[in-house]
Amino acid sequence: MASLVLKNRRTTLERGEKFTSEQYFTRANLRGRLFGPSCPVESLSYFLTPLRTSYEKAVKEEFKPVKVGASFGPTWWTSWFRVMVTIPTAWKGEEVHFVWESDGEALVWRNSIPVQGLTKEGEKISYILTEKLTDEDPHSLELYVELACNGLFGAGQGSMISPPDPNRSFTVHRAELVVFNRAVHELLIDFEILSDMAKLLGTDNQRSYQALYTANKMVNVCDVEDPSTFAKARRLAADFFQQQNGASQHTVHAMGHCHIDTAWLWPFEETIRKCARSWASALRLMEKNPNFIFACSQAQQLQWVKCWYPVLYTQLKEYAEKGQFVTVGGTWVEMDGNLPSGESMVRQFLQGQRFFQQEFGKYCCEFWLPDTFGYSAQLPQIMQGCGVTRFLTQKLSWNLVNEFPHHTFFWEGIDGSRVLTHFPPGNSYGLHGKVAELLDTVKNNKDKGRVNDSVFLFGFGDGGGGPTQNMLDRLQRLQNTDGLPRVKQSSPETFFSILEADTTMLCTWVGELFLELHNGTYTSQAKIKKGNRKCECILRSIEVVCSLASVQKDSFEYPSAQLQHLWRLLLLNQFHDVLPGSCIQSVVEDAMKFYEEIQSRGNELLKEAIQCLLGGSVQETGKNINVLNTLSWERTEVISMPRLEGDEVLALVKVPSVGFATVTNPLVPSHPVIVTSQGDGSVLMENGILKVVFDSLGRLTSVTHLLYKRETIPEGCHGNQFVLFDDIPLYWDAWDVMDYHLETRKPISELLKPLEIVCPGGVRGSVRHSIRISDTSKIRQEIILDACCPYIKFKTEVEWHETHKFLKVEFPTTVRSLNATYEIQFGHLQRPTHQNTSWDWARFEVWGHKWADLSEHGFGVALLNDCKYGYSVHRNVMTLSLLRAPKAPDATADMGHHQFTYALMPHAGSFQEANVIQFAYNINYPLHIVPAEPSVSASCFWSAFSIQSPAIILETIKQKPSLPSMPEYRSTWVSSFLGLQHGLDVGQGPALGSGESCQQLVEPLALGDGKLEVAGVDACLVLGCFDGSQARALAST
Ligand SMILES: [Zn+2]
Repeated sequence: MASLVLKNRRTTLERGEKFTSEQYFTRANLRGRLFGPSCPVESLSYFLTPLRTSYEKAVKEEFKPVKVGASFGPTWWTSWFRVMVTIPTAWKGEEVHFVWESDGEALVWRNSIPVQGLTKEGEKISYILTEKLTDEDPHSLELYVELACNGLFGAGQGSMISPPDPNRSFTVHRAELVVFNRAVHELLIDFEILSDMAKLLGTDNQRSYQALYTANKMVNVCDVEDPSTFAKARRLAADFFQQQNGASQHTVHAMGHCHIDTAWLWPFEETIRKCARSWASALRLMEKNPNFIFACSQAQQLQWVKCWYPVLYTQLKEYAEKGQFVTVGGTWVEMDGNLPSGESMVRQFLQGQRFFQQEFGKYCCEFWLPDTFGYSAQLPQIMQGCGVTRFLTQKLSWNLVNEFPHHTFFWEGIDGSRVLTHFPPGNSYGLHGKVAELLDTVKNNKDKGRVNDSVFLFGFGDGGGGPTQNMLDRLQRLQNTDGLPRVKQSSPETFFSILEADTTMLCTWVGELFLELHNGTYTSQAKIKKGNRKCECILRSIEVVCSLASVQKDSFEYPSAQLQHLWRLLLLNQFHDVLPGSCIQSVVEDAMKFYEEIQSRGNELLKEAIQCLLGGSVQETGKNINVLNTLSWERTEVISMPRLEGDEVLALVKVPSVGFATVTNPLVPSHPVIVTSQGDGSVLMENGILKVVFDSLGRLTSVTHLLYKRETIPEGCHGNQFVLFDDIPLYWDAWDVMDYHLETRKPISELLKPLEIVCPGGVRGSVRHSIRISDTSKIRQEIILDACCPYIKFKTEVEWHETHKFLKVEFPTTVRSLNATYEIQFGHLQRPTHQNTSWDWARFEVWGHKWADLSEHGFGVALLNDCKYGYSVHRNVMTLSLLRAPKAPDATADMGHHQFTYALMPHAGSFQEANVIQFAYNINYPLHIVPAEPSVSASCFWSAFSIQSPAIILETIKQKPSLPSMPEYRSTWVSSFLGLQHGLDVGQGPALGSGESCQQLVEPLALGDGKLEVAGVDACLVLGCFDGSQARALAST
């Protein structure tokens, strides 16, 4: 027996490490025995194409011989390889792998089926041809390898997020057959875990020494030349791993996952292939490991795979039946959590849940959004309304300033809806099953003592192909090993059910989950933001008009399929690297094409529906004009009417709620706008509501609210002051604006064209001016004050060619308030205007939708816009963020011409009393002007319905979706999602159960109550509940 020696910790540790090192002593150590003999492939030939071609097409092409070591490109091309292999008969009984190592992302096809994704960065370089070669196995095989000429993270030049280098080439480094020694692999995993435990549990932990000495004994018994000794070493390890924890140990629920960004540093089309590669790899693991559970989100990605890889999709469904492939999330894509409208978020769930139900037979119970840049305080209600009561994310671990205080908690939205929320404490959605990560999961957990279970998401994301066998082998050993948390392979359902069994100790977080990072994403890629807002508005208008047309005219066919297609395009663009503007140029180009399709096809649908609704009288020009309003309140506005003579004329018109008016005689304003040029180049405009003075630079020097007799601009200050900031983040260029940018504020005050009067008054007063930002950038603005209108509108055009600059516009006010209010989905929330605590100042740049408001008792100022999302209100200054100029990942981001409109609305009373919400909708939903035949009844004034309470905004009117199993309701039922914006005098009633509203969103279920009369036809309501009160709508014809 060898004499025992007093062991030196360091040398003992390093002895084990050298025994398994990939770098040192590989001729004598265990690692060097992982692979046995190898042989080259029989033949290799290739076909290169700029297209992402189907397998069927590709294999018919002409393939040319090529050798390992050759390179292929340029970036985004595809090289298909035909690989002939012959397995030597001498390898009988061995496990044989086809090894493929390249810089690109590869997919192996065998017998016309995608079988394995191979991406070096995802630790996947081999496809298992056989686990034990028999004489009966085919020895000669034909494989195809589809090599995408891009890396896991695209092809960034220099750094990951740099714009792609279009001229990169990708090399095939290895293509061969090799014998894989499974027994050596198993021992290597044992050693790795023991070594990690020895190192990481620390010198004051006896389990650390037990691991260390076990590993050392294993080295002693293991003769690398004699595989018969391996079993003894494995037994030593197994004995160690089987020493169990006490009953109180934390349980980690491991779920395989592969977070695939639907477009980011690569185009949408490449994502389809990333899905195929990743899920083919996951299937191989599911076959081999019956306990392995893989969670997969985003209906759109599954829909793509269904279309492009039907065989793969069928296999996925088989594993879904077995409970191993688990669909999660419930949404169409993992969308941005801030900027989509309330209705868009509902549609994300509607389209997603319907897909999961139809294809996988179940709705998702948990919202899954691990990687989005903040979460709206309205999401809990939307989730509950869609039958989702659980939420998983981890992104707040990226907070730059404050550490979020929980990992498991109830998240409560603005109406009081609560969802059970979990942040996996490993603070990642791409773990590897390592000892260090398991220890971190336990250590980081902020709810120790309250919760004893957590989620552990493992697998390479974004084309890394998800989990690996190594990860599963690690987790398999650690099911219950003293010193480490227990590990279970669980589904989200299992995990959340355990949490739900006892929630008595959980804390509640109220309001938004604000990410203290990536705050530039409210502004970057302004055209994507504008496309989103415009398309949300047009789709709403189409659905309103089509619904009215279908109840008015039996002959009208509601364009359900086309609307679903257009909605899905919009939902796709709301993906969390597209709408935030953090994607490469080619993705932006694709996104703009989707918006163009929505707008052009949408406008056709709208025109057809209007024609049907108003009768055949619609003309290009006409003597009479029909004005259509899709919003649920009466509007009196100035419009531009086309005349038979070919020109246009301004007219003040009144249009009823959700209806139209035929304009024969425009209204005469009781107080026309008066425009006065003053001697010093300034201009005064007044409309009986506001009196406004502009200087020659178009800046407001005075805004007086005439009814309240209140000045809005502080003495010596300027409203509509453009300001430019240096905007150089630490790394994430398109994503981040840092707090220090505020120290570089430069007012823009160089005149190009002084203020001049355009409209001299009457129904409209307007002025225009132009100012210089730099040699290459300038602003042109028309400032409008209409009769009867309580706000000043700034129609703005910017020519923008800057580098790392941030353009904003400021409105200093005379209002003092501790909080400003911002519109969010179906509601609003308040954020502080001061910087008392780190939580306050971390919100130096925030998001909102169509309006923000700063009010004190009885008076306030609102800032409205038609396509912007970034705001800041600090003390008394309201600022709207306009344009950024990041250079990565899109070097051309935001360069060029921009058009947008914002408005300033001083008001008496609260913003609710002043109808700020309604005026912000008006700016976003211009009245539709429809020329009519003179024969149209002289002064038609038709309203489908109106709503008594100003607290209610009718968000959506649409036809119920008809499913095959349900009776056909077309032309008889109209369903609505109704946003109740604040709880004024709305009747209280029993709350809608979440099940009811879930079904309402997903199925054509007729609710018995909450009926609304629509032109004599019943329609159903689903109520959004806001600001703390569950309520039912009061509606009238
Ligand atoms: Zn992501």
